[in-house]
Amino acid sequence: MTTLTPQRADIAGAVRALAPQLLSLSHDLHDHPELAWREHRSSAVLASTLERAGLAVSRGAHGLPTAFVAHAGTRGPLVVLCCEYDALPGLGHGCGHNVIASAAAGAGAVLAPLAARRGGRVVVLGTPAEEGGGGKIELLARGAFDGAAAALLAHPGPNDQVRATFRAAASWRVAFRGRAAHAAMAPEQGRNALDAALLAYDALRAARPTLAFGDQVTAVLTEGGRAPNVVPDRALLRVMTRAAEARRLPALAAVVRRAADAGALATGCSVAVRPDGPTYREVRSDPWLASRAEVHLRSLGRHPLPPRESDVLTAGSTDLGNVSHLVPALHPKLGIGAVPQHSAEFARAAVSPAGDRAVLDGAALLAHLTLDIWNRT
Ligand SMILES: [Zn+2]
Ligand SMILES: [Zn+2]
Repeated sequence: MTTLTPQRADIAGAVRALAPQLLSLSHDLHDHPELAWREHRSSAVLASTLERAGLAVSRGAHGLPTAFVAHAGTRGPLVVLCCEYDALPGLGHGCGHNVIASAAAGAGAVLAPLAARRGGRVVVLGTPAEEGGGGKIELLARGAFDGAAAALLAHPGPNDQVRATFRAAASWRVAFRGRAAHAAMAPEQGRNALDAALLAYDALRAARPTLAFGDQVTAVLTEGGRAPNVVPDRALLRVMTRAAEARRLPALAAVVRRAADAGALATGCSVAVRPDGPTYREVRSDPWLASRAEVHLRSLGRHPLPPRESDVLTAGSTDLGNVSHLVPALHPKLGIGAVPQHSAEFARAAVSPAGDRAVLDGAALLAHLTLDIWNRT
């Protein structure tokens, strides 16, 4: 049997006492998925929960309607615990953000009564729109992380990882304009924007084997005409480029540009390539926070995987990356089952017994890390 230090026993007891509330919060968020920037119900539920737990809450914080700030403590090092709560189109909580939000809220509730006594400050920050909108990048620009000693969150994943790898990412809208015409009676008078987009898509596919280790280009066609008897005059490709480091993204932007031009040139259409949201930077994991998280995860009975060079090949991206370049940060993952993120299976896992355990372990982990930072001399 593991012997608990007084601090470890305190946290474990506090999380256990809150467990019914935290799990019902997690399931409630999961049952009401909301897309980026529209998380009105989710942010309201979280804000009220934190207020009831004794934190001072400001809703619509930093001018963002679905952000919030919940804080406790008046002096000492400031730790920002990030809640994410946006869902994915068609997949609900296929990234398990209900777990992230409930773990951070749980840690905030555990820490609030300790803050004054321990000489520390904690902010539970409601960060909207992680899935593409870059809510944390906006919040960073508006000062939400100013003066923070650390920024933390706990994300569910297929495995336990302390230093999870995340790539830098940039998103693009590639809009083709052609000329509409009757598809049967006068196709020669048309300029087919759908054909332009499909050629560009093929050009991106052809470029893939030439990309450097860890670089990636993915695309979807979201507009390509409305009727088969009309030559489509508009088509839209949405493209994401990813790389191990943000400094490689301009080279990938050139790949997108060349593919777009190829499609336009071949069909006589025009094309405009525009950014589709902010650029996400790769995550820098703070080594000291990582070493502390390793200890805590092991004491929770977890077995975090060591980082490998090949992790970059399967890495996603997060807006915490931008924060991590300015504030010491950590984005550990807690395993909830060997299913891919952004899938219906992952959404189910996020409310399974393993998902529930990740909520409670995540709350304990974030509380322990915060106490470590408060106690650090
Ligand atoms: Zn995601
Ligand atoms: Zn996520």
